[in-house]
Amino acid sequence: RGDSKDFDREVDSVCPYCGVGCQIKFKVKDDKIKYVEGIDGPANENRLCVKGRFGFDYIDHPHRLTKPLIRRDDAPAKGLNVDPGNLHTHFREATWEEALDVAAGGLARLRDEDGRRVAGFGSAKCSNEEAYLFQKLIRQGFGHNNVDHCTRLCHASSVAALMENVGSGAVTATFNEIENADVAIVIGANPVENHPVAATYFKQFAKRGGKLIVMDPRGVGLRRFASNMLQFKAGADVSMLNAIMHVIVEEELYDRQYIEALTENWPAMREHLRGFSPEKMEPVCGIDAEVLRDVARTFAGAKAAMIFWGMGVSQHIHGTDNSRCLISLALMCGHVGRPGAGLHPLRGQNNVQGASDAGLIPMFLPDYQSVTDDGVRSAFSEVWSSGDFSSEKGLTVVEIMDAIHDGQIRGMYILGENPAMSDPDVDHARAALAKLDHLVVQDIFLTETANYADVILPSSAWYEKSGTVTNTNRQVQMGRPVRKPLGDAREDWWIEVELAKRLGLDWTYSHPREVFAEMKRTMKSLDNITWERLEGEAVTYPSLSPEDPGQAIVFGDGFPRAEGRARFTPANVVPPDEVPDGEYPFVLITGRQLEHWHTGSMTRRSKVLDAVEPEANCSLNPKTLRALGVEPGEYIRLSTRRGSISVMARADRAVAENNVFLPFAYVEAAANILTNAALDPYGKIPEFKYSAVRVEKDGRM
Ligand code: SF4
Repeated sequence: RGDSKDFDREVDSVCPYCGVGCQIKFKVKDDKIKYVEGIDGPANENRLCVKGRFGFDYIDHPHRLTKPLIRRDDAPAKGLNVDPGNLHTHFREATWEEALDVAAGGLARLRDEDGRRVAGFGSAKCSNEEAYLFQKLIRQGFGHNNVDHCTRLCHASSVAALMENVGSGAVTATFNEIENADVAIVIGANPVENHPVAATYFKQFAKRGGKLIVMDPRGVGLRRFASNMLQFKAGADVSMLNAIMHVIVEEELYDRQYIEALTENWPAMREHLRGFSPEKMEPVCGIDAEVLRDVARTFAGAKAAMIFWGMGVSQHIHGTDNSRCLISLALMCGHVGRPGAGLHPLRGQNNVQGASDAGLIPMFLPDYQSVTDDGVRSAFSEVWSSGDFSSEKGLTVVEIMDAIHDGQIRGMYILGENPAMSDPDVDHARAALAKLDHLVVQDIFLTETANYADVILPSSAWYEKSGTVTNTNRQVQMGRPVRKPLGDAREDWWIEVELAKRLGLDWTYSHPREVFAEMKRTMKSLDNITWERLEGEAVTYPSLSPEDPGQAIVFGDGFPRAEGRARFTPANVVPPDEVPDGEYPFVLITGRQLEHWHTGSMTRRSKVLDAVEPEANCSLNPKTLRALGVEPGEYIRLSTRRGSISVMARADRAVAENNVFLPFAYVEAAANILTNAALDPYGKIPEFKYSAVRVEKDGRM
């Protein structure tokens, strides 16, 4: 905290980290952020967590990219081998003109040989307008749909299940609605670390007497506030949830009227659940049958209940089945579409909701309009004043890496994503990046992915750009710059426009508000939301009139599906892709920590956050460590069928005895060297939350 002489400007904007979307007031002096304050946004009501409060100084880190770079002709072979403090061994500085010409020229050459040979990864850390432009550039510029982003790695399976059964991929109620609930389930999520401000609402709910049911293989932080903590066996979600629903059917606790009025496929669901008695599922999921019965009665008996879930649910080869179960559980009890009732997948990145809405996905155009629908495509072609593009769904994140190895994809444009850290089986992904004929990376730092680039385009940090952003609550908010991009860096939308022009596209945008205006022509979800309105207030979509602040709760009177009915889709138990055996006897679970964000490119360059968590670590149960002869603070070696890393061990009683929890922010012990690239067949999301791993004492001290 300071007083007014400590700053010369105040700028109201939004936090760049998680999907909660806290509004922040930046206090700026001499173009530097001095400190911040939470302001009264709809999702945070003045609150901030440690990342929002202290994680802003990375924008002035000495390793910021401030000049366009082109790989030198005499650079060493591509690999993870560039010193970020001495880029000149591999890259030479270039003017924007030259760098853009080389970047676009290489992509155009591959396009003209065969348009399908180029793919694009956009970013959930960019604005809605930048995400929209990115998908448009790939579709209009290359004629296909090989465009994706990190939603594929977080909630793709949740979205698949929600689209299938509810008709919409977004939340049915804001997380703030928990104040009107009397029961809430939080499953496969660790909001105390990953959505910390949302977690404060959950804690308040429990302190007021709400029944908080926490379900997770790890004893996550919310357990201290829980009325029930179900620490089930990793990968056993479907068996546990089916057993709970079995009790609701068996004891006729379901909402008959709701089911008859607003759902379909109930008879098949009811029949399917017969085989999942709690007694039969107890050894499968590891939860006592009586506890399962108790939870079923509590949830079904609630006046209003919500279900929140995270990547513990979604990042499995049965992630879509897990979400199907949660949707069915809510539907059978009529816990959707009322105050205090709803389904809420907690979205991870600050704009993963908005980037998905804007069409940064290979099967959907903006507003989840299918690329296979001829009418939809021709409507977009009309707005874009261009010819048709492919009706074939594009490749997803992991599939694109495989396609590079197969020679199908030879060039990529990657904006703000870091697949050389974030992809599963990351050595496979790094080898793919090294094979590309032409890689254009647009980012603020020399990320691990940028190590493999042919051209690097220095771009803007979130604090340096104008644009809208959409949080987990469907709230669209305005991001405002605290200053211009550092050095010769440029705003991402500007770089996209310049590349598009060089790819032969007739783009004339001169400000993101013009992009937003075009988005409104293609996205019904933005009805009644204008740039000017967002300058003054956050608006939750859908907004029913220019005065309506937006609908916090949706689907009270029907769903956007045939006949307005949601669907029950039964799910069977599918085992994880690889299960522990004599060689790899433990279960590896990866995830995040409070202080670090995803692949660490921002938070590990933020002084306060990095000082709190400076070193790669992993957590094991104290009994497991004792059995291994390892003291906390010593190093252990983790090995899977993909690779091996050495990392410092921590003792954590919240981790089950046969589990290992490993954060994925640390390049020196990259978790994704170990993880399994097996995919959920519907959401195409990898199984980050379950790999068979061997744990050994490492000699390193
Ligand atoms: Fe930022 Fe999320 Fe923390 Fe809010 S809860 S300050 S949005 S990281």
